Amino acid sequence: MRQSKLFTRTKKEAPADEVAKNAELLIRGGYIYKEMAGVYDFLPLGLRVIQKIENIIREEMNAIGGTEMRTAVLQNREVWEKSNRWSDEVVDNWFKTQLKNGGEVGLSFTNEEAFSNIMKQYISSYKDLPIFPYDFKNIFRNETRSKSGIMRGREFYWKALYSFAKDDEQHSVFYEKIKQAYINIFKRAGIWHLTYLTFASGGTFSNFSHEFQTLTSAGEDTIYVDENKGIAVNQEVFTDEVLDTLELSKDTLVEHTAVEVGNIFSLGTKFSTPFDLNYTDENGEEKSVIMGSYGIGLGRLMGTIVEVLSDDKGIIWPESVAPFRVHLLSLGEDETVLNEAERVYKQMLDNGIEVLFDDRSGVSAGEKFADADLLGMPVRVVVSNRSMKENGVEVKKRTEEKGVVIALEDLLKSLNV
Ligand code: ATP
Ligand code: MG
Repeated sequence: MRQSKLFTRTKKEAPADEVAKNAELLIRGGYIYKEMAGVYDFLPLGLRVIQKIENIIREEMNAIGGTEMRTAVLQNREVWEKSNRWSDEVVDNWFKTQLKNGGEVGLSFTNEEAFSNIMKQYISSYKDLPIFPYDFKNIFRNETRSKSGIMRGREFYWKALYSFAKDDEQHSVFYEKIKQAYINIFKRAGIWHLTYLTFASGGTFSNFSHEFQTLTSAGEDTIYVDENKGIAVNQEVFTDEVLDTLELSKDTLVEHTAVEVGNIFSLGTKFSTPFDLNYTDENGEEKSVIMGSYGIGLGRLMGTIVEVLSDDKGIIWPESVAPFRVHLLSLGEDETVLNEAERVYKQMLDNGIEVLFDDRSGVSAGEKFADADLLGMPVRVVVSNRSMKENGVEVKKRTEEKGVVIALEDLLKSLNV
């Protein structure tokens, strides 16, 4: 993509009311636009990051048998009355609205009811199980806290998968698989080194749920990490009894602030009972379906990456989620330089390299460098009089201080094309 065609511009300052680093850097880079507190638009660069994250999650969900679908945002009151979650006294963060011809609808704040209600149509026998439908969707919550940028939105984009199994054993097999899939996702997203599988409260049907908590001062949770075992305990279940059960000792646990980037939850029959979600087993007996829920906030994950992978100059995207792998800069207005930069751009496109080409005229070298640092593509490639004198292009990784001039062929080789 040519930067001259990108309608977004970088900014020196973020809005004064924005306190979160993720939002500050993403707004300054033109990745997102702030509509209002807790509500953000994803601009072209930001959408590319979300789409990369979405594809990683999709691949990992499909690899363990997930089937993608899309549930509606407008929700039916009757369905939610079945699980007793329509009332504002039970759920205080609903957004609801009136229909012109009478009645009320709600905007999804979660998906258990929608999935349970739909799956009831398709589950009748043990042969129908297990199934693992999931969707990506915008979720709406009337949150009172919204100071964490895209890490806590009133409207946010998530992935939610629900598992439907015939018994605890079938459920557990999948639960362990998705745990591993989540580890893969956070590894691929570049934050696993700071992320811990965390024991949290489990509700009525299991002792614990599992959260994936990433260490960052921008988080809102307190967790206790056992570095050697590579696991953590959420403050909400931090009792002597729980530590005994998990064979953890206070002496080796260290307190940290962290953000929940994902969670996995055994639901037991919590939703299958109110929705009469039953099946006939091998012996003709009617049994309740055993469910689980598994969420990841894509905006929260993107915000977390920015919080933990950035420096005073800007963002440092991991290659897997960067909007472009290469940021190509042409410096100065010399025709020979411009022609050479065009040639390099074309070669990169021909070789399938995702490249953002800063072809803007009348923008100083200093400004182009500052923008490249702020936007944070993994590799910066500069074409200038200097690089041309040395018969190459200047290459610098975002994590490095100094660039080196190398031949274009060698660069293409090192980019594995
Ligand atoms: P939290 O404890 O942070 O309030 P939650 O436990 O309510 O989150 P879930 O309802 O289980 O979260 O949602 C699943 C995932 O969606 C979370 O793990 C998180 O990644 C993301 N998420 C939840 N709330 C928000 C929000 N307001 N903005 C952005 N992402 C969110
Ligand atoms: Mg939570």
